[in-house]
Amino acid sequence: MSLEDAAEELASDLGADKAEVREKLETLQSYSVPLDEAKGSIRREFGDAGGGAATPSETDVADIDTETGNVTVNARVLTVGKRSIRYDGDEQVIYEGELADETGAISYTAWTDFSLSPGDTITAGNAGVREWEGDPELNLSESTTVTVQEETLEVPDEVGGERDLIDLQPGDRGRTVEVSVVELERKTIDGRDGETEIKSGVLGDETARLPFTDWAPHDAIAADASVRLEDVHVREFRGVPSVNVTEFSTVEPVADVEVSESATRMSVREAVDAGGVFDVELVGNVLEVRDGSGLIQRCPECGRVVQNDQCRNHGDVDPEDDLRVKAILDDGTDTVTAILDREATEAVYGGTLADALDQARDAMDRDVVAESIAADVVGGEYRVRGALSVDEYGANLDCEDFEAADDDPEARAREFLAEVEP
Ligand SMILES: [Zn+2]
Repeated sequence: MSLEDAAEELASDLGADKAEVREKLETLQSYSVPLDEAKGSIRREFGDAGGGAATPSETDVADIDTETGNVTVNARVLTVGKRSIRYDGDEQVIYEGELADETGAISYTAWTDFSLSPGDTITAGNAGVREWEGDPELNLSESTTVTVQEETLEVPDEVGGERDLIDLQPGDRGRTVEVSVVELERKTIDGRDGETEIKSGVLGDETARLPFTDWAPHDAIAADASVRLEDVHVREFRGVPSVNVTEFSTVEPVADVEVSESATRMSVREAVDAGGVFDVELVGNVLEVRDGSGLIQRCPECGRVVQNDQCRNHGDVDPEDDLRVKAILDDGTDTVTAILDREATEAVYGGTLADALDQARDAMDRDVVAESIAADVVGGEYRVRGALSVDEYGANLDCEDFEAADDDPEARAREFLAEVEP
């Protein structure tokens, strides 16, 4: 690009005098500043000095990355979520969601109310770009101009926040779900404004179950009630997606929502890739019963597993006996550590905690309990159900059910292949 062309383009973008821009470019070039840098410098100069006179050129959503400077985008509003955050010590209401054009979709945060509605086609002039968890996100601030366009932009993405529970992921905002309240609990928590009452529990629909928290208790959220929840957001809680209902959410009763009785059937790989699944069913072989299984001891204060009567939090304690199994389960796609609580362990062991203590006393060795469980389960195929979470050490499944998979393995393999190979 020649200096003349660059001056022309800049002057037009910035709404500035071409002769003035050319002179600045020439000066910068005389100091051996490369043309692209010189252009950037002049854009910044006009952007700062001109008080918003600088409108960046229009950019395709797909071309925006975390290094991109301010942009102008012409896009369709897919979703709008309203949320209150604490910012610089003050309560601030923000709007969040996704925008899309023909090339792609991107998250946005609006720091002022632009009255955005899903389906609107807008031009956002001078929107900032920031990095949010590794991805670019648009920042619509006071220096952004938002114009609603008459003509609707057709985009490949779905407009609106309606989703099934199975499709919700941490980070989702402005979502709408129709669900049944499967479990409900009231809690008093120490919130940022003192003691607050919240509701929490489990929601279900035909596709999945997920935990939820209602931070501004809505009367319509009652045990066994079916409700439509508009404008909820999704956060990760204990490794699985959790639905957050706020003061800005709309809650309305609806006709009965069917809840799936069965857990979501997945391969270990799929569940791990999903970043955690609240209620999943896996089938695999037990490769090993890990250390820390069988007869264990816990701190009476915090429930942590202790060794030699030493709790990491509480020091010298008088521990309580308990039973647990940590079994490595492999389904050919990946492995997960299945964790069985006392009840599930008693079922696998075929005896109670008292029986286990008797066996250990007779053998004068506490390890015999884990050894006898391992002798029973290692090599066997099991169907497990529970909450799968992923942390830095790998995947864990808190088992609700752990039972021998007694069906025909060949038939199940065919069924499984049919599911993964559409
Ligand atoms: Zn403790």
